[in-house]
Order: sequence, then C-alpha cells, then structure tokens
Amino acid sequence: MRDILPPESGRWRQFTGVFADVVERAGYGQLMTPLLEDLGVFTRIGDATDVVTKEMYDFVDKGERHIALRPEMTASVCRAFAEQRPTTPWKVFYSGSNFRYEKPQRGRYRQFDQVGIEVLGADDPNLDVEVIALAWEFYARLGLRQVTLIVNSLGEPDDRARYVEALLAHFTAAGAALSEQSRATLERNPLRVLDSKREIDQPLIAAAPQIADFYSDEAAAHFESVLAGLRSLDIEFAVEPKLVRGLDYYRRTIFEFQGGTLDSAQNALGGGGRYDGLVEALGGPATPGVGFALGVDRTLLACDDEGVFPAEPVQLDVFVVDVTGGLEAVTITSELRAAGFAADRGYDNRSMKAQMKLANRSGARIALIVGDDELAAGTVVVKPMHGEGDQVAVDRSEILTHLASLSDQNRTNHE
Ligand code: AMP
Repeated sequence: MRDILPPESGRWRQFTGVFADVVERAGYGQLMTPLLEDLGVFTRIGDATDVVTKEMYDFVDKGERHIALRPEMTASVCRAFAEQRPTTPWKVFYSGSNFRYEKPQRGRYRQFDQVGIEVLGADDPNLDVEVIALAWEFYARLGLRQVTLIVNSLGEPDDRARYVEALLAHFTAAGAALSEQSRATLERNPLRVLDSKREIDQPLIAAAPQIADFYSDEAAAHFESVLAGLRSLDIEFAVEPKLVRGLDYYRRTIFEFQGGTLDSAQNALGGGGRYDGLVEALGGPATPGVGFALGVDRTLLACDDEGVFPAEPVQLDVFVVDVTGGLEAVTITSELRAAGFAADRGYDNRSMKAQMKLANRSGARIALIVGDDELAAGTVVVKPMHGEGDQVAVDRSEILTHLASLSDQNRTNHE
C-alpha cells in the first residue's frame, strides 16, 4: 500500500475529475458505496476466482459479521441496485480504492484505485458500444496513444457452459503435457487455463476449442452488433478469442484495454463486460448489466511512460514575507485568499533571507514583503519574482487593486 504525496495526489484528483466529466456528460451519476461489504456480496462473484478465494481482505467484526474490504466495485453496484431498486436503465459511475492481497510489484498493489461505470437494466448491444466508447474517449482525454482494445464474447451462459466442458475435455486429455499449475487451474476454472503464460502450455492453448464455435445465434448476433457499433465509431479493436478475464460473472461481451508501455503481466489498464446474472445472484430481479473498471495506478504509470497528463503543482500567485512578528501576514494572506488569489506565507518569524528563499522556492509570481518600515508606514513591498518589473511600495489598503492590475498587465503581455 502506498502513500500518494503532492503534487502527485493532485494528479489523481484531476484524473477522477476528467473521468467524471466524460461520463457525466453521457448521463452517468456517481454512486458511492461502502468500502466494506458483507463477505457474501463478493463470494457471489464466483468461488473459482482468485480475487475472491485467495486475495480478499476479509475478517469477522465486533458484531460477529463476516465482512470484507471490497476487491472490486461491480458487486457493490449490483448489491446497491438489488437493495435500492432504482428505475432502469441505471447508469452510474464510481471511483475509489479496492483491496487485494496480491504480490506487490510495479503496477500491482494491495490497495489500488479504480474508476468505472456500470449500466443496469438494458440489454442493448449499443450500450456495450457506448461503454467501450466512453473508456476510449477518456484515454484520449488523458492523451494516451498506445492503448489497444481487445474484445471477445463468452456467449450465453449455456454456450459458455458447453465451451467449458469442451475445454475441460481438451486439457484433461493432454494429461501431464499441461503444466502442474494449469492442471490445478483446470480443476477450479477451465477458462482460466487460457490465461496461462507458461511456455509449455502454449501449444495446448493454441489447439484448444474456440468459443466462437459454441455461440448460439442470439449470442453471435449480439456480438456482431457490438463489433459493427465499434466500427461505426472508428474505434480500433482486435477480437481475441482467448480473452476470458478474471471474474466469473461475465456473459457475452468482454473487453480489455492494454497499455503499450507496461510489462505484459501488468499491462491491463482496464476492462469490463456484460454480467447478466450478477444482480439476480445478489437477491435482485433478473437484470442485465454492462460496465468497466479502469485501474488508476496503472493508467497513471502508462501516462508517465508516454509523457502525458503530468502532475502539475498548484501555481501560487503570492507569497507573503512578514518579519515584523505580528499579525500582518495573518490578515494579508486571509484577504488575498478571500479575493481568490492563491497565497502562502512564511512562518516562525524566520529571517528575511530565509523567508525570501521560501518565496523563491514556492514558485509564486509575487512576494509581498512587510518589514518594520512598511509596518510603520502602513505599506507593503510588492516584489515581482520572475523579473516582471521593479518592486514598489503599495499602501496596505491598495494591495488587492494593485495585484489585480498586475494580473491584467500580465495577461495583456501574454496575449
Ligand atoms: P479487474 O477488476 O481485475 O478486471 O481489474 C480492472 C483493472 O484494475 C485492471 O485492468 C488494472 O488496471 C486494475 N487493477 C486490478 N488489480 C490491481 C492491483 N492489484 N494493483 C493495481 N491495479 C490493479
């Protein structure tokens, strides 16, 4: 788990701000759910999922309830839907931390953040297209260029079940030719064997049955509509028949966004899909759902690698240097801030030299200096820090008007 310090933390806030801007304009409202849920909310995601079986931070609380820190947010959204029963289609977005007990490395942390959207109550393949297009637009707003989109369909639940049987038969017949780890995976979740990166498994994976051969007409038509919609928006994608994604609840469309600059084990920037059975599993009415979650930590690493969306420290307008030890700096900074200037000051009555050093380091455009002479005369010295004109003494009551005129001047100079 990490500390995120300024100015990096400011970038995180801007990141969620840009995300909210993109999705709010498409009709999504923010849903805020608790960090903790009843353990059952997550075990319904699927008991063959590592996220649930191995990586959950779960514990018994003082009221003897078995609860867990959320490992992802889709289950919480569906739980909230089942409880609140809002009108459909319900279009929500979220942002916040998730917790998974994974082996930490670059791009993989035990506490990580996601932003995401979910739509509950509509089956329309055009909605899958909308959801993917919004993530696409968001990456463009960040300035990321090396993002690839891969899509697949897992078919209807029946198609998927028949496919899983075929995979099981295929990999079981291979016996010891399959890696020991994959044999263990096979017992829990045959689909996930397709995810294996082990060299020895590759020929068997390449020869495995293809999901497309198991699609019902309905599933095939749904998938075709999604692909046609993506083409109509000029969104580039590749169909990847081996894409299965980690969580068990997916049905039909699934997709993943991959970054071009990250190690292959951590290159998934985000992903999502349809999960038409999850609300029902959580005690709600049968409700189709589709959405995605994008990893904030990893996407920002990709931004660093591509040199886009940099952290920008807040630009200070004024730094107040007061060596009189009284209340001048207190009242002046307060007036400045109330008038909308970004203002900071020196503390602990440090020397003029020390405070000027701080003023310099702060990056402020202007230092306002109060010494004993100024205090006696009721003035302050206004000193431009970046060589924009000479320093002048200004009457204490004229500070705001003087600064405003400097800002105007500054603006005209830059135009
Ligand atoms: P998932 O919920 O597993 O589909 O993950 C969606 C996205 O969340 C991934 O593509 C990653 O960007 C991010 N993510 C998942 N797990 C982690 C983790 N342990 N650390 C950092 N980011 C993660």
